[in-house]
Amino acid sequence: MEVKVGPSTLELVEGDITRQDTVAIVNAANKHLRPGGGVDGAIHRAGGPAIEAACRQLGGCPMGEARITTGGNLKARYVIHTVGPVYRDGCHREPELLASCYRESLKLASANGIKSLAFPSISTGVYGYPMEDAARVALKTVTDYLAHHPEIERVRLVLFGRAAYEVYGKALQEL
Ligand code: ADP
Repeated sequence: MEVKVGPSTLELVEGDITRQDTVAIVNAANKHLRPGGGVDGAIHRAGGPAIEAACRQLGGCPMGEARITTGGNLKARYVIHTVGPVYRDGCHREPELLASCYRESLKLASANGIKSLAFPSISTGVYGYPMEDAARVALKTVTDYLAHHPEIERVRLVLFGRAAYEVYGKALQEL
């Protein structure tokens, strides 16, 4: 499923983020930028030790911010690591912090001349963010950014499994 935002394309696919051919992929990292589970573990396994070595140099990343490293052995040349909020009840700045993850990752892409990037569904695994709410925040933030930044040609949201893909598809139709 894809939509145009000005000259840019926003795309939803069901799949594995480690296999994407975009210039950068985004990692749902932890604030220590140490290999963990979920999508983070998958990216470090597929990308090899160069990513972890680069992360170690960075000394962590605060929630809502983003950092860039090599993509190691991945098809993607870069990994943008962003630290999503741990969901409590939705009243502890979770939407604002989640939006910031998408926006700060996109800003890093623009600053580094990256024209295509792929995101996972940040915070919706171990961090517990309800998928419907996270989908609305993700799609609104990405479309708002693309509306003002035609230098980004393609943003792909890579949803892990059919259920996640359908939730995002519905949220995109409602937007
Ligand atoms: P967080 O700690 O931010 O919640 P997780 O890695 O636990 O991060 O989960 C974030 C989302 O990534 C979840 O929706 C999970 O289903 C999804 N996910 C897990 N592995 C992959 C993968 N290889 N590619 C894309 N998405 C993935």
